[in-house]
Amino acid sequence: MIKKGLLIVISGPSGTGKGTVCKALLEQNKFWISVSATTRAPRKGELDGENYYFITKENFLERIHKEDFLEYAEVYGNYYGTPKSNVLEKLDKGEDVILEIDIQGALKVKENYPDGVFIFILPPSMEELKKRITNRGTETEESLMTRFKSAYKEINFVSKYNYAVVNDTVEEAVKKIECIIAAERCRVDRIKNTIFDSKEGLIHEQLYD
Ligand code: 5GP
Repeated sequence: MIKKGLLIVISGPSGTGKGTVCKALLEQNKFWISVSATTRAPRKGELDGENYYFITKENFLERIHKEDFLEYAEVYGNYYGTPKSNVLEKLDKGEDVILEIDIQGALKVKENYPDGVFIFILPPSMEELKKRITNRGTETEESLMTRFKSAYKEINFVSKYNYAVVNDTVEEAVKKIECIIAAERCRVDRIKNTIFDSKEGLIHEQLYD
């Protein structure tokens, strides 16, 4: 029985710091993070193929038609999507995959891959969320208002997730996510087929280490 990798979906409203948390998580662990495609223009310092694949709307729509995406969503007037083939290939090879995506996208992934681990990043408070979105300084006044409003609505979707992690400090949030992943790797319903082999008895060496 070949073990499959974990599909770990990290999402939450804009400004909760999920991007920073994911970056720190990847610096300390050997996870593979999917690079999304987007029609949004690159921000200062963002690199094509590293932060996103920056593509045209035409190209994006074509790829939707070709069913190239695991999920996609329109977020604040731009399209964002997770390229499917790389993610499925990694999971099949037994590698763990992280998706850092918005809530609409996460719910779509949950419909198709209920075995995934769905983690919602919460801000310490709504006041702090407001501060974080404003301090980012990358948004126009109009875009700030849109992001605040949707963040208030989006918090309610936390009940659809498996875990909620408050991003009080990045260090603590990362620690909690590492613990969640470690626990998920030990779940009996994930690994029972690899614990016992009907002919050979215990084959514990095939478990995650
Ligand atoms: P930003 O424009 O600030 O980089 O991202 C805006 C939002 O889009 C964030 O909530 C981010 O997590 C989300 N996002 C990034 N990539 C994807 C993706 O592939 N799919 C979906 N559904 N959302 C994404």
